[in-house]
Amino acid sequence: MANRYWCSECTFRTPWLAGPEGRRRQIEHYARKHPGTQPGGQVETRRRCAGGDRGRRHLCAVVVLALLVTAVALALVIMATGHRR
Ligand SMILES: [Zn+2]
Repeated sequence: MANRYWCSECTFRTPWLAGPEGRRRQIEHYARKHPGTQPGGQVETRRRCAGGDRGRRHLCAVVVLALLVTAVALALVIMATGHRR
């Protein structure tokens, strides 16, 4: 699961980050860009394909590709058995 924090003062948002890292980045952003403002804005949460890092995104792509290959293989098997009948 990953969170993305949106700034309520400007268009800034953190990358998808797991755990307290996103909150930390948001607080850092407020300290730098909006000194004296209480950190606010909304938090976006997602469960699948979490993380802004390339490794996890790559893993997601591999899973999707594997599913596609399985679907195509299944379709081919169904077509092949259909011809024999
Ligand atoms: Zn901001």
